[in-house]
Amino acid sequence: MPEAFRNEPLTDFSKPENAREMRAAIEKVQNQLGREYPLIIGGERITTSNKFDSFNPAKRTVVVGRFQKATPELASRAVETAFAAFQSWKNTSASHRADLLFRVAHILRQRKHELSAWMVYEVAKPWPEADGDTAEAIDFCEFYGREMLRYGGPQPLTRIKGEENVLEYIPLGVGAVIPPWNFPLAIMAGMTSASFVTGNTVVLKPSSDSPTIAYKFFEILEEAGIPPGVVNFLTGSGAEVGDVVVDHPKTRYVAFTGSREIGLRINERAAKVHDGQNWIKRVVAEMGGKDAIIVAADADLDDAAMGVVQSAFGFQGQKCSACSRAIVDAGIYEPLLQKVADRTDKIRLGDPTDVATTMSAVINQKAFNNINDYIEKGKAEGGRLLVGGGSDAEQGFFIEPTVIADVKPGATIEQEEIFGPVLAVLKADNFDHALKIANDTQYGLTGAVYSTDADKLERARREFHVGNLYLNRKCTGALVGVHPFGGFNMSGTDSKAGGHDYLLLFLQAKVSSERTGATVSRRVEQGTAV
Ligand code: NAD
Repeated sequence: MPEAFRNEPLTDFSKPENAREMRAAIEKVQNQLGREYPLIIGGERITTSNKFDSFNPAKRTVVVGRFQKATPELASRAVETAFAAFQSWKNTSASHRADLLFRVAHILRQRKHELSAWMVYEVAKPWPEADGDTAEAIDFCEFYGREMLRYGGPQPLTRIKGEENVLEYIPLGVGAVIPPWNFPLAIMAGMTSASFVTGNTVVLKPSSDSPTIAYKFFEILEEAGIPPGVVNFLTGSGAEVGDVVVDHPKTRYVAFTGSREIGLRINERAAKVHDGQNWIKRVVAEMGGKDAIIVAADADLDDAAMGVVQSAFGFQGQKCSACSRAIVDAGIYEPLLQKVADRTDKIRLGDPTDVATTMSAVINQKAFNNINDYIEKGKAEGGRLLVGGGSDAEQGFFIEPTVIADVKPGATIEQEEIFGPVLAVLKADNFDHALKIANDTQYGLTGAVYSTDADKLERARREFHVGNLYLNRKCTGALVGVHPFGGFNMSGTDSKAGGHDYLLLFLQAKVSSERTGATVSRRVEQGTAV
Protein backbone atom coordinates (compact mmCIF):
# COMPACT_ATOMS: atom_id res chain seq x y z
CA MET A 1 0.00 0.00 0.00
CA PRO A 2 1.23 3.51 -0.74
CA GLU A 3 1.66 5.83 2.22
CA ALA A 4 -1.33 7.94 3.34
CA PHE A 5 -2.44 10.69 0.98
CA ARG A 6 -0.95 14.13 1.56
CA ASN A 7 -1.59 17.28 -0.46
CA GLU A 8 1.14 18.39 -2.83
CA PRO A 9 2.84 21.44 -1.28
CA LEU A 10 2.44 24.75 -3.10
CA THR A 11 5.56 26.47 -4.41
CA ASP A 12 6.89 29.49 -2.55
CA PHE A 13 7.93 31.81 -5.37
CA SER A 14 9.51 34.29 -2.96
CA LYS A 15 12.39 31.80 -2.77
CA PRO A 16 14.85 32.77 -5.53
CA GLU A 17 15.55 29.17 -6.60
CA ASN A 18 11.83 28.49 -7.12
CA ALA A 19 11.34 31.71 -9.06
CA ARG A 20 14.39 30.86 -11.19
CA GLU A 21 13.01 27.42 -12.03
CA MET A 22 9.61 28.84 -12.96
CA ARG A 23 11.22 31.50 -15.15
CA ALA A 24 13.21 28.80 -16.95
CA ALA A 25 10.00 26.80 -17.50
CA ILE A 26 8.25 29.87 -18.91
CA GLU A 27 11.12 30.41 -21.33
CA LYS A 28 11.09 26.79 -22.40
CA VAL A 29 7.34 26.86 -23.05
CA GLN A 30 7.59 30.17 -24.89
CA ASN A 31 9.86 28.46 -27.41
CA GLN A 32 7.20 25.82 -28.02
CA LEU A 33 4.25 28.12 -28.66
CA GLY A 34 2.36 27.84 -31.95
CA ARG A 35 2.92 24.14 -32.63
CA GLU A 36 0.26 21.95 -34.20
CA TYR A 37 -1.24 18.97 -32.36
CA PRO A 38 -3.22 16.01 -33.72
CA LEU A 39 -6.27 14.15 -32.51
CA ILE A 40 -5.36 10.81 -30.95
CA ILE A 41 -7.80 7.94 -31.41
CA GLY A 42 -6.69 4.43 -30.46
CA GLY A 43 -3.11 5.71 -30.33
CA GLU A 44 -3.27 6.91 -33.93
CA ARG A 45 -2.33 10.55 -34.57
CA ILE A 46 -4.86 12.10 -36.93
CA THR A 47 -4.99 15.50 -38.63
CA THR A 48 -8.03 17.02 -40.32
CA SER A 49 -8.45 19.75 -42.91
CA ASN A 50 -10.11 22.17 -40.47
CA LYS A 51 -8.02 23.66 -37.66
CA PHE A 52 -8.49 26.06 -34.81
CA ASP A 53 -6.04 27.96 -32.63
CA SER A 54 -5.84 28.55 -28.93
CA PHE A 55 -4.52 31.99 -27.99
CA ASN A 56 -2.75 33.66 -25.11
CA PRO A 57 -5.49 35.77 -23.47
CA ALA A 58 -2.92 38.33 -22.30
CA LYS A 59 -1.39 38.67 -25.81
CA ARG A 60 -4.37 37.98 -27.94
CA THR A 61 -2.59 37.46 -31.27
CA VAL A 62 -0.11 34.90 -29.93
CA VAL A 63 -1.08 31.36 -30.86
CA VAL A 64 -0.39 28.86 -28.09
CA GLY A 65 -1.35 25.77 -30.07
CA ARG A 66 -3.03 24.77 -33.33
CA PHE A 67 -5.57 21.96 -33.14
CA GLN A 68 -7.70 19.75 -35.37
CA LYS A 69 -11.43 20.25 -35.64
CA ALA A 70 -12.72 16.70 -35.40
CA THR A 71 -15.57 15.76 -37.72
CA PRO A 72 -18.71 14.03 -36.39
CA GLU A 73 -17.40 10.79 -38.03
CA LEU A 74 -14.15 11.02 -36.07
CA ALA A 75 -16.09 11.74 -32.88
CA SER A 76 -18.09 8.55 -33.46
CA ARG A 77 -14.90 6.64 -34.18
CA ALA A 78 -13.43 7.84 -30.90
CA VAL A 79 -16.40 6.38 -28.99
CA GLU A 80 -16.23 3.07 -30.94
CA THR A 81 -12.48 2.87 -30.29
CA ALA A 82 -12.96 3.51 -26.58
CA PHE A 83 -15.67 0.84 -26.54
CA ALA A 84 -13.31 -1.69 -28.13
CA ALA A 85 -10.55 -0.80 -25.65
CA PHE A 86 -12.99 -1.21 -22.75
CA GLN A 87 -13.33 -4.94 -23.47
CA SER A 88 -9.80 -5.56 -22.23
CA TRP A 89 -9.19 -2.55 -19.96
CA LYS A 90 -12.14 -3.49 -17.75
CA ASN A 91 -10.36 -6.76 -16.93
CA THR A 92 -7.14 -5.17 -15.69
CA SER A 93 -6.66 -5.18 -11.93
CA ALA A 94 -7.36 -2.21 -9.69
CA SER A 95 -3.74 -2.21 -8.54
CA HIS A 96 -2.46 -2.18 -12.13
CA ARG A 97 -4.58 0.88 -12.90
CA ALA A 98 -3.70 2.60 -9.63
CA ASP A 99 0.01 2.05 -10.31
CA LEU A 100 -0.42 3.68 -13.70
CA LEU A 101 -2.01 6.69 -12.01
CA PHE A 102 0.80 6.92 -9.45
CA ARG A 103 3.28 6.99 -12.36
CA VAL A 104 1.26 9.80 -13.94
CA ALA A 105 1.42 11.73 -10.63
CA HIS A 106 5.18 11.19 -10.50
CA ILE A 107 5.71 12.60 -14.01
CA LEU A 108 3.37 15.55 -13.30
CA ARG A 109 5.47 16.34 -10.22
CA GLN A 110 8.69 16.21 -12.21
CA ARG A 111 7.27 18.60 -14.84
CA LYS A 112 5.34 20.74 -12.39
CA HIS A 113 6.65 24.15 -13.45
CA GLU A 114 6.49 23.34 -17.13
CA LEU A 115 2.80 22.47 -16.87
CA SER A 116 2.15 25.60 -14.82
CA ALA A 117 3.96 27.63 -17.48
CA TRP A 118 1.61 26.25 -20.15
CA MET A 119 -1.29 27.54 -18.05
CA VAL A 120 0.37 30.93 -17.70
CA TYR A 121 0.32 31.17 -21.49
CA GLU A 122 -2.88 29.42 -22.46
CA VAL A 123 -5.32 30.75 -19.84
CA ALA A 124 -3.34 33.68 -18.32
CA LYS A 125 -3.01 32.19 -14.84
CA PRO A 126 -0.71 34.16 -12.54
CA TRP A 127 2.10 31.96 -11.18
CA PRO A 128 0.60 30.93 -7.82
CA GLU A 129 -2.76 30.13 -9.47
CA ALA A 130 -1.07 27.96 -12.11
CA ASP A 131 1.01 26.26 -9.44
CA GLY A 132 -2.15 25.53 -7.41
CA ASP A 133 -3.81 24.02 -10.48
CA THR A 134 -0.86 21.69 -11.11
CA ALA A 135 -0.70 20.71 -7.44
CA GLU A 136 -4.40 19.85 -7.53
CA ALA A 137 -3.92 17.67 -10.62
CA ILE A 138 -1.17 15.75 -8.79
CA ASP A 139 -3.46 15.43 -5.76
CA PHE A 140 -6.31 14.01 -7.84
CA CYS A 141 -4.01 11.33 -9.28
CA GLU A 142 -2.57 10.39 -5.89
CA PHE A 143 -5.97 10.45 -4.19
CA TYR A 144 -7.93 8.52 -6.82
CA GLY A 145 -5.14 5.94 -7.13
CA ARG A 146 -5.48 5.21 -3.40
CA GLU A 147 -9.25 5.27 -3.63
CA MET A 148 -9.21 2.67 -6.40
CA LEU A 149 -7.14 0.37 -4.19
CA ARG A 150 -9.78 0.80 -1.49
CA TYR A 151 -12.72 0.15 -3.82
CA GLY A 152 -10.81 -2.75 -5.40
CA GLY A 153 -10.39 -4.44 -2.00
CA PRO A 154 -12.89 -6.58 -0.07
CA GLN A 155 -16.16 -4.77 0.71
CA PRO A 156 -18.03 -5.27 3.96
CA LEU A 157 -21.28 -7.32 3.81
CA THR A 158 -23.40 -8.90 6.52
CA ARG A 159 -22.49 -12.56 6.72
CA ILE A 160 -25.05 -15.35 6.70
CA LYS A 161 -24.56 -19.03 7.15
CA GLY A 162 -24.14 -21.25 4.09
CA GLU A 163 -23.43 -18.52 1.56
CA GLU A 164 -20.39 -16.69 0.34
CA ASN A 165 -21.35 -13.17 -0.70
CA VAL A 166 -19.03 -10.82 -2.50
CA LEU A 167 -19.58 -7.24 -3.61
CA GLU A 168 -17.25 -5.94 -6.30
CA TYR A 169 -17.13 -2.54 -7.93
CA ILE A 170 -16.89 -2.84 -11.68
CA PRO A 171 -16.55 -0.11 -14.32
CA LEU A 172 -19.37 1.34 -16.41
CA GLY A 173 -18.01 1.59 -19.95
CA VAL A 174 -17.13 4.50 -22.21
CA GLY A 175 -17.11 7.91 -20.54
CA ALA A 176 -17.32 11.25 -22.34
CA VAL A 177 -15.10 13.56 -20.31
CA ILE A 178 -15.87 17.22 -20.96
CA PRO A 179 -13.91 19.71 -18.83
CA PRO A 180 -13.88 23.54 -18.72
CA TRP A 181 -10.89 25.79 -19.42
CA ASN A 182 -10.65 27.42 -15.99
CA PHE A 183 -8.88 24.55 -14.22
CA PRO A 184 -7.50 23.24 -17.48
CA LEU A 185 -5.14 20.74 -15.86
CA ALA A 186 -6.72 19.85 -12.51
CA ILE A 187 -10.35 19.32 -13.50
CA MET A 188 -9.49 17.75 -16.84
CA ALA A 189 -6.97 15.39 -15.21
CA GLY A 190 -9.31 14.69 -12.28
CA MET A 191 -12.28 13.59 -14.39
CA THR A 192 -10.08 11.67 -16.85
CA SER A 193 -8.09 9.82 -14.22
CA ALA A 194 -11.16 8.98 -12.10
CA SER A 195 -12.57 7.44 -15.29
CA PHE A 196 -9.70 5.22 -16.33
CA VAL A 197 -8.49 4.24 -12.87
CA THR A 198 -11.91 2.71 -12.27
CA GLY A 199 -11.57 0.64 -15.46
CA ASN A 200 -13.58 2.80 -17.85
CA THR A 201 -12.31 4.10 -21.16
CA VAL A 202 -12.52 7.72 -22.20
CA VAL A 203 -13.19 10.15 -24.98
CA LEU A 204 -11.59 13.33 -23.68
CA LYS A 205 -12.90 16.47 -25.33
CA PRO A 206 -11.01 19.41 -23.83
CA SER A 207 -12.20 23.00 -23.93
CA SER A 208 -11.20 24.81 -27.12
CA ASP A 209 -9.68 27.53 -24.92
CA SER A 210 -7.21 25.15 -23.25
CA PRO A 211 -6.48 22.17 -25.52
CA THR A 212 -2.67 22.40 -25.28
CA ILE A 213 -2.63 21.68 -21.56
CA ALA A 214 -4.89 18.67 -22.14
CA TYR A 215 -2.56 17.46 -24.89
CA LYS A 216 0.44 17.76 -22.54
CA PHE A 217 -1.43 15.65 -20.00
CA PHE A 218 -2.23 13.10 -22.69
CA GLU A 219 1.49 12.83 -23.52
CA ILE A 220 2.14 12.11 -19.85
CA LEU A 221 -0.47 9.35 -19.87
CA GLU A 222 1.31 7.78 -22.84
CA GLU A 223 4.69 8.10 -21.14
CA ALA A 224 3.25 6.43 -18.03
CA GLY A 225 2.20 3.51 -20.23
CA ILE A 226 -1.54 3.85 -20.82
CA PRO A 227 -2.59 1.45 -23.60
CA PRO A 228 -3.90 2.91 -26.89
CA GLY A 229 -7.63 3.59 -26.92
CA VAL A 230 -8.08 3.77 -23.14
CA VAL A 231 -8.08 7.56 -23.38
CA ASN A 232 -8.78 9.20 -26.75
CA PHE A 233 -8.01 12.85 -27.39
CA LEU A 234 -10.67 14.65 -29.39
CA THR A 235 -10.60 18.38 -30.07
CA GLY A 236 -13.23 20.41 -31.90
CA SER A 237 -16.36 22.45 -31.51
CA GLY A 238 -18.23 21.69 -28.30
CA ALA A 239 -21.58 21.82 -30.07
CA GLU A 240 -20.63 19.61 -33.06
CA VAL A 241 -18.32 17.07 -31.51
CA GLY A 242 -19.75 17.25 -27.99
CA ASP A 243 -23.26 16.41 -29.08
CA VAL A 244 -22.10 13.40 -31.12
CA VAL A 245 -20.15 11.96 -28.21
CA VAL A 246 -22.92 12.61 -25.68
CA ASP A 247 -25.60 11.13 -27.97
CA HIS A 248 -23.66 8.04 -29.06
CA PRO A 249 -25.37 4.79 -28.00
CA LYS A 250 -22.07 3.30 -26.84
CA THR A 251 -21.38 6.20 -24.47
CA ARG A 252 -22.20 4.95 -20.99
CA TYR A 253 -21.72 8.13 -18.97
CA VAL A 254 -20.76 11.77 -19.23
CA ALA A 255 -18.46 13.53 -16.77
CA PHE A 256 -18.93 17.23 -17.37
CA THR A 257 -17.76 20.39 -15.64
CA GLY A 258 -18.74 23.75 -17.09
CA SER A 259 -21.61 26.17 -17.41
CA ARG A 260 -25.17 25.61 -16.28
CA GLU A 261 -26.38 26.07 -19.84
CA ILE A 262 -24.22 23.31 -21.35
CA GLY A 263 -24.63 21.05 -18.32
CA LEU A 264 -28.41 21.13 -18.67
CA ARG A 265 -28.17 20.55 -22.41
CA ILE A 266 -25.98 17.49 -21.85
CA ASN A 267 -28.27 16.19 -19.12
CA GLU A 268 -31.27 16.45 -21.43
CA ARG A 269 -29.56 14.89 -24.45
CA ALA A 270 -28.08 12.07 -22.39
CA ALA A 271 -31.56 11.13 -21.18
CA LYS A 272 -32.62 10.15 -24.70
CA VAL A 273 -32.13 6.46 -25.49
CA HIS A 274 -30.73 5.81 -28.97
CA ASP A 275 -30.95 2.67 -31.11
CA GLY A 276 -28.59 0.01 -29.85
CA GLN A 277 -28.24 1.58 -26.41
CA ASN A 278 -28.68 -0.81 -23.49
CA TRP A 279 -28.41 1.53 -20.51
CA ILE A 280 -29.50 4.77 -18.93
CA LYS A 281 -26.57 7.15 -19.31
CA ARG A 282 -25.18 8.49 -16.10
CA VAL A 283 -24.43 12.21 -16.00
CA VAL A 284 -22.05 13.79 -13.55
CA ALA A 285 -22.43 17.53 -14.12
CA GLU A 286 -20.68 20.18 -12.07
CA MET A 287 -21.83 23.65 -13.12
CA GLY A 288 -21.79 27.33 -12.20
CA GLY A 289 -22.04 29.34 -9.03
CA LYS A 290 -23.18 32.66 -7.62
CA ASP A 291 -21.18 32.41 -4.46
CA ALA A 292 -21.62 34.78 -1.55
CA ILE A 293 -19.60 35.82 1.46
CA ILE A 294 -21.63 37.11 4.40
CA VAL A 295 -19.88 39.59 6.66
CA ALA A 296 -21.66 39.86 10.01
CA ALA A 297 -21.58 42.95 12.22
CA ASP A 298 -19.23 41.19 14.67
CA ALA A 299 -16.69 40.01 12.06
CA ASP A 300 -12.99 40.80 12.02
CA LEU A 301 -13.18 43.32 9.18
CA ASP A 302 -9.59 43.06 7.99
CA ASP A 303 -9.86 39.30 7.76
CA ALA A 304 -13.20 39.55 5.99
CA ALA A 305 -11.99 42.16 3.48
CA MET A 306 -8.97 40.01 2.67
CA GLY A 307 -11.14 36.90 2.18
CA VAL A 308 -13.61 38.76 -0.02
CA VAL A 309 -10.94 40.28 -2.26
CA GLN A 310 -8.96 37.06 -2.62
CA SER A 311 -12.10 35.06 -3.43
CA ALA A 312 -13.49 37.67 -5.81
CA PHE A 313 -10.39 38.36 -7.89
CA GLY A 314 -8.14 35.27 -7.70
CA PHE A 315 -7.64 34.13 -11.31
CA GLN A 316 -9.67 37.13 -12.50
CA GLY A 317 -12.80 35.88 -10.72
CA GLN A 318 -12.95 32.96 -13.16
CA LYS A 319 -13.51 30.24 -10.58
CA CYS A 320 -16.82 28.51 -10.03
CA SER A 321 -16.16 29.12 -6.33
CA ALA A 322 -15.35 32.84 -6.76
CA CYS A 323 -17.08 35.30 -4.45
CA SER A 324 -19.33 37.35 -6.69
CA ARG A 325 -21.54 38.70 -3.89
CA ALA A 326 -20.44 40.22 -0.60
CA ILE A 327 -23.44 40.53 1.70
CA VAL A 328 -22.53 42.94 4.46
CA ASP A 329 -24.33 43.89 7.66
CA ALA A 330 -25.52 47.50 7.56
CA GLY A 331 -23.69 48.26 10.82
CA ILE A 332 -20.25 47.77 9.28
CA TYR A 333 -21.09 48.35 5.62
CA GLU A 334 -19.08 51.49 4.91
CA PRO A 335 -15.91 50.53 6.84
CA LEU A 336 -15.91 47.09 5.21
CA LEU A 337 -16.39 48.64 1.76
CA GLN A 338 -13.41 50.92 2.39
CA LYS A 339 -11.20 47.99 3.34
CA VAL A 340 -12.32 46.02 0.27
CA ALA A 341 -11.61 49.03 -1.95
CA ASP A 342 -8.14 49.56 -0.44
CA ARG A 343 -7.17 45.93 -0.99
CA THR A 344 -8.60 45.85 -4.51
CA ASP A 345 -6.53 48.91 -5.41
CA LYS A 346 -3.36 46.97 -4.61
CA ILE A 347 -4.06 44.26 -7.21
CA ARG A 348 -1.52 44.36 -10.06
CA LEU A 349 -3.15 43.72 -13.40
CA GLY A 350 -0.65 42.62 -16.01
CA ASP A 351 1.21 39.99 -18.00
CA PRO A 352 0.97 36.62 -16.25
CA THR A 353 4.57 35.71 -17.14
CA ASP A 354 5.66 38.39 -14.66
CA VAL A 355 5.87 37.09 -11.08
CA ALA A 356 4.62 40.44 -9.72
CA THR A 357 1.31 40.16 -11.58
CA THR A 358 -1.57 39.27 -9.28
CA MET A 359 -4.36 39.44 -11.87
CA SER A 360 -4.32 39.08 -15.65
CA ALA A 361 -6.54 38.87 -18.71
CA VAL A 362 -9.90 37.11 -18.93
CA ILE A 363 -10.12 34.10 -21.19
CA ASN A 364 -11.38 35.43 -24.53
CA GLN A 365 -13.25 38.13 -26.46
CA LYS A 366 -16.65 36.65 -25.70
CA ALA A 367 -15.98 36.65 -21.97
CA PHE A 368 -14.53 40.18 -22.20
CA ASN A 369 -17.73 41.46 -23.87
CA ASN A 370 -19.99 39.58 -21.49
CA ILE A 371 -18.27 40.81 -18.34
CA ASN A 372 -18.28 44.40 -19.59
CA ASP A 373 -22.01 44.10 -20.32
CA TYR A 374 -22.58 42.95 -16.75
CA ILE A 375 -20.62 45.94 -15.39
CA GLU A 376 -22.82 48.26 -17.44
CA LYS A 377 -25.95 46.46 -16.28
CA GLY A 378 -24.80 46.66 -12.67
CA LYS A 379 -24.46 50.42 -12.94
CA ALA A 380 -27.70 50.83 -14.90
CA GLU A 381 -29.62 48.93 -12.24
CA GLY A 382 -28.52 51.39 -9.56
CA GLY A 383 -25.16 49.96 -8.42
CA ARG A 384 -22.44 52.37 -7.31
CA LEU A 385 -19.12 51.77 -9.07
CA LEU A 386 -16.62 51.77 -6.22
CA VAL A 387 -13.44 50.45 -7.83
CA GLY A 388 -12.40 49.56 -11.40
CA GLY A 389 -14.87 49.34 -14.23
CA GLY A 390 -12.27 49.97 -16.91
CA SER A 391 -11.13 47.52 -19.56
CA ASP A 392 -8.79 47.30 -22.52
CA ALA A 393 -8.67 44.61 -25.18
CA GLU A 394 -5.90 46.11 -27.29
CA GLN A 395 -3.14 43.66 -26.23
CA GLY A 396 -5.15 41.15 -24.29
CA PHE A 397 -8.53 40.87 -22.60
CA PHE A 398 -7.87 43.00 -19.54
CA ILE A 399 -10.66 44.05 -17.19
CA GLU A 400 -9.92 45.91 -13.97
CA PRO A 401 -10.98 44.28 -10.72
CA THR A 402 -14.37 45.88 -10.28
CA VAL A 403 -16.44 46.45 -7.14
CA ILE A 404 -20.03 47.59 -7.48
CA ALA A 405 -21.64 48.62 -4.20
CA ASP A 406 -25.28 49.15 -3.19
CA VAL A 407 -26.47 46.31 -5.43
CA LYS A 408 -30.06 45.33 -4.65
CA PRO A 409 -31.20 41.76 -4.05
CA GLY A 410 -32.62 40.39 -7.29
CA ALA A 411 -30.53 42.68 -9.56
CA THR A 412 -29.05 40.99 -12.63
CA ILE A 413 -25.48 41.05 -11.32
CA GLU A 414 -26.73 39.63 -8.04
CA GLN A 415 -28.42 36.67 -9.73
CA GLU A 416 -26.47 35.66 -12.85
CA GLU A 417 -23.02 34.09 -12.95
CA ILE A 418 -20.60 36.65 -14.41
CA PHE A 419 -17.42 34.57 -14.31
CA GLY A 420 -15.07 37.53 -14.25
CA PRO A 421 -13.55 40.09 -11.87
CA VAL A 422 -16.77 41.75 -10.75
CA LEU A 423 -17.90 41.84 -7.14
CA ALA A 424 -21.41 42.96 -6.19
CA VAL A 425 -21.72 44.29 -2.64
CA LEU A 426 -25.12 44.23 -0.92
CA LYS A 427 -26.24 45.73 2.35
CA ALA A 428 -28.17 43.45 4.73
CA ASP A 429 -30.34 44.64 7.63
CA ASN A 430 -29.09 41.86 9.89
CA PHE A 431 -27.80 38.27 9.82
CA ASP A 432 -31.25 36.79 9.02
CA HIS A 433 -31.59 39.09 6.07
CA ALA A 434 -28.03 38.27 4.91
CA LEU A 435 -28.77 34.52 4.95
CA LYS A 436 -31.99 35.07 3.04
CA ILE A 437 -30.20 37.05 0.32
CA ALA A 438 -27.40 34.49 0.15
CA ASN A 439 -29.82 31.59 -0.39
CA ASP A 440 -32.00 33.42 -2.89
CA THR A 441 -30.24 32.04 -5.98
CA GLN A 442 -30.56 29.11 -8.37
CA TYR A 443 -27.05 28.03 -7.45
CA GLY A 444 -25.55 26.51 -4.33
CA LEU A 445 -21.84 25.92 -4.77
CA THR A 446 -19.68 27.74 -2.22
CA GLY A 447 -20.31 30.34 0.44
CA ALA A 448 -18.55 31.85 3.43
CA VAL A 449 -19.46 33.61 6.63
CA TYR A 450 -17.24 35.94 8.64
CA SER A 451 -18.42 36.29 12.24
CA THR A 452 -17.01 35.96 15.76
CA ASP A 453 -20.37 34.70 17.05
CA ALA A 454 -20.50 30.90 17.35
CA ASP A 455 -24.32 30.93 17.15
CA LYS A 456 -24.26 32.69 13.80
CA LEU A 457 -21.72 30.21 12.45
CA GLU A 458 -23.88 27.34 13.65
CA ARG A 459 -26.94 28.84 11.94
CA ALA A 460 -24.96 29.15 8.73
CA ARG A 461 -24.01 25.47 8.95
CA ARG A 462 -27.70 24.61 9.09
CA GLU A 463 -29.23 27.23 6.79
CA PHE A 464 -26.70 28.39 4.19
CA HIS A 465 -27.55 25.96 1.37
CA VAL A 466 -24.25 25.38 -0.43
CA GLY A 467 -22.14 22.32 -1.10
CA ASN A 468 -18.98 23.93 0.32
CA LEU A 469 -19.39 26.31 3.23
CA TYR A 470 -16.41 28.13 4.72
CA LEU A 471 -16.44 29.85 8.08
CA ASN A 472 -14.04 32.72 8.74
CA ARG A 473 -12.02 31.95 5.61
CA LYS A 474 -12.26 32.64 1.90
CA CYS A 475 -14.66 30.65 -0.29
CA THR A 476 -12.09 29.51 -2.89
CA GLY A 477 -9.13 27.13 -2.64
CA ALA A 478 -10.69 23.71 -2.01
CA LEU A 479 -8.06 21.05 -1.37
CA VAL A 480 -8.35 17.45 -2.58
CA GLY A 481 -9.19 15.11 0.30
CA VAL A 482 -9.69 18.05 2.67
CA HIS A 483 -12.62 19.83 1.02
CA PRO A 484 -14.48 17.40 -1.29
CA PHE A 485 -16.00 19.76 -3.83
CA GLY A 486 -19.40 20.07 -5.51
CA GLY A 487 -22.57 22.10 -5.33
CA PHE A 488 -26.33 21.96 -4.85
CA ASN A 489 -29.24 23.01 -7.07
CA MET A 490 -28.14 24.45 -10.44
CA SER A 491 -24.50 24.18 -9.38
CA GLY A 492 -24.67 20.52 -10.32
CA THR A 493 -24.92 16.97 -9.10
CA ASP A 494 -22.83 17.50 -5.97
CA SER A 495 -20.32 14.89 -7.07
CA LYS A 496 -17.77 15.95 -4.42
CA ALA A 497 -14.63 15.72 -6.51
CA GLY A 498 -11.61 14.91 -4.38
CA GLY A 499 -13.74 13.06 -1.82
CA HIS A 500 -14.17 9.44 -0.82
CA ASP A 501 -17.52 9.05 -2.62
CA TYR A 502 -16.30 10.34 -5.96
CA LEU A 503 -15.13 7.13 -7.63
CA LEU A 504 -18.52 5.51 -6.96
CA LEU A 505 -19.88 7.74 -9.72
CA PHE A 506 -17.66 5.86 -12.17
CA LEU A 507 -18.45 2.39 -10.87
CA GLN A 508 -21.34 -0.01 -10.44
CA ALA A 509 -21.57 -2.65 -7.75
CA LYS A 510 -21.97 -6.34 -8.59
CA VAL A 511 -22.90 -8.83 -5.90
CA SER A 512 -22.34 -12.55 -6.35
CA SER A 513 -23.79 -15.02 -3.89
CA GLU A 514 -22.65 -18.63 -3.78
CA ARG A 515 -24.40 -21.35 -1.78
CA THR A 516 -21.67 -23.12 0.08
CA GLY A 517 -23.31 -25.76 2.29
CA ALA A 518 -26.40 -27.72 3.08
CA THR A 519 -27.41 -25.46 5.96
CA VAL A 520 -28.72 -22.41 4.18
CA SER A 521 -30.45 -19.74 6.21
CA ARG A 522 -34.26 -19.96 6.07
CA ARG A 523 -34.48 -16.40 4.86
CA VAL A 524 -32.48 -17.28 1.75
CA GLU A 525 -34.22 -20.62 1.21
CA GLN A 526 -37.64 -19.04 1.32
CA GLY A 527 -36.53 -16.36 -1.08
CA THR A 528 -37.41 -13.52 1.27
CA ALA A 529 -33.96 -11.98 1.04
CA VAL A 530 -33.72 -9.47 -1.79
P1 NAD B 1 -18.78 25.71 -20.96
O1 NAD B 1 -20.03 25.12 -20.47
O2 NAD B 1 -18.85 26.78 -21.98
O3 NAD B 1 -17.85 24.56 -21.58
C1 NAD B 1 -17.50 23.41 -20.84
C2 NAD B 1 -17.12 22.29 -21.80
O4 NAD B 1 -18.28 21.91 -22.54
C3 NAD B 1 -16.08 22.70 -22.83
O5 NAD B 1 -15.18 21.63 -23.02
C4 NAD B 1 -16.91 22.92 -24.08
O6 NAD B 1 -16.19 22.72 -25.27
C5 NAD B 1 -17.96 21.83 -23.91
N1 NAD B 1 -19.18 21.99 -24.71
C6 NAD B 1 -19.72 23.11 -25.24
N2 NAD B 1 -20.87 22.81 -25.89
C7 NAD B 1 -21.06 21.47 -25.76
C8 NAD B 1 -22.06 20.55 -26.19
N3 NAD B 1 -23.12 20.94 -26.89
N4 NAD B 1 -21.92 19.26 -25.88
C9 NAD B 1 -20.88 18.82 -25.15
N5 NAD B 1 -19.90 19.64 -24.71
C10 NAD B 1 -19.99 20.95 -25.02
O7 NAD B 1 -17.98 26.24 -19.67
P2 NAD B 1 -16.56 26.93 -19.60
O8 NAD B 1 -16.67 28.32 -20.09
O9 NAD B 1 -15.51 26.06 -20.19
O10 NAD B 1 -16.30 26.94 -18.03
C11 NAD B 1 -16.82 27.90 -17.18
C12 NAD B 1 -18.01 27.36 -16.41
O11 NAD B 1 -17.65 26.20 -15.71
C13 NAD B 1 -18.54 28.32 -15.36
O12 NAD B 1 -19.93 28.31 -15.39
C14 NAD B 1 -18.02 27.73 -14.06
O13 NAD B 1 -18.77 28.06 -12.92
C15 NAD B 1 -18.09 26.27 -14.36
N6 NAD B 1 -17.21 25.49 -13.50
C16 NAD B 1 -17.79 24.72 -12.53
C17 NAD B 1 -16.99 23.98 -11.67
C18 NAD B 1 -17.59 23.15 -10.58
O14 NAD B 1 -16.90 22.34 -10.00
N7 NAD B 1 -18.87 23.29 -10.28
C19 NAD B 1 -15.60 24.03 -11.80
C20 NAD B 1 -15.05 24.81 -12.81
C21 NAD B 1 -15.87 25.54 -13.66
